[in-house]
Amino acid sequence: MNKLMIANWKMNKNSHEVAAFFSLFNEKYSGKRDAWIASQSLHFPLVEELKTSTIKAGLQNCSEHTEGAYTGEVSSRALKDMNGHFVLLGHSERRQYFQETSKNLNSKIRTAIQEGLVAVYCVGETLKERESGQTLTIIEDQIHQALNDQSKINSENLVIAYEPVWAIGTGKTATPLMAQEVHAHIRKVLKTKFPAFGEKIKILYGGSIKPDNVEELLAQKDIDGGLVGGASLKASDFLALCGDK
Ligand code: PEP
Repeated sequence: MNKLMIANWKMNKNSHEVAAFFSLFNEKYSGKRDAWIASQSLHFPLVEELKTSTIKAGLQNCSEHTEGAYTGEVSSRALKDMNGHFVLLGHSERRQYFQETSKNLNSKIRTAIQEGLVAVYCVGETLKERESGQTLTIIEDQIHQALNDQSKINSENLVIAYEPVWAIGTGKTATPLMAQEVHAHIRKVLKTKFPAFGEKIKILYGGSIKPDNVEELLAQKDIDGGLVGGASLKASDFLALCGDK
């Protein structure tokens, strides 16, 4: 199975920077690892136009509603219609600044999958939770609350991203062994929850991944790829993360 690297550009880049990224990235990207890009909503059509066909484009959030009177929201139906492939859901910045909870993410995941998108569901513990020994329970809760009663999920339309909140944008990375311990637990929970296909659901690690720590993280048995913020903004760094030096 190819490793999957997802770039989360957050609310960064202008249109010229998007174009500059692809002029280098397209030239050197070999497809050795799968590459998906989550841009700002406004830049989605530009990313669609500039990327090569092996790269998949998506967004960082979408509404639990498919359409209607929800001023300012982004619709997963519209994203699919524009050829979008995936959407990130439950990123810790969304939980922290926009009051998203695992419970309301349950509806967002349902809608995204129903509309034909891949839902990349983010889970992770805070530093306080880790220090008080609650990491595995917190992650398990986040998985159950968001994935309960979902009849359309399969191993192709759901990806889990484990992102310890204390490692996002801080330069602190979980050691490969710390990450592997949580990934193995997530794998076990998914296998029990979805006996027919849980083992095949991809589990990505996120939190200060950089070219100099990516290989040891990806060498872990249950790490199927990465979700990358800061180091995905520069084409040369994201190329290195995709295995193309
Ligand atoms: C993220 O925001 O998903 C992330 C992993 O950020 P960074 O790589 O900058 O820690």
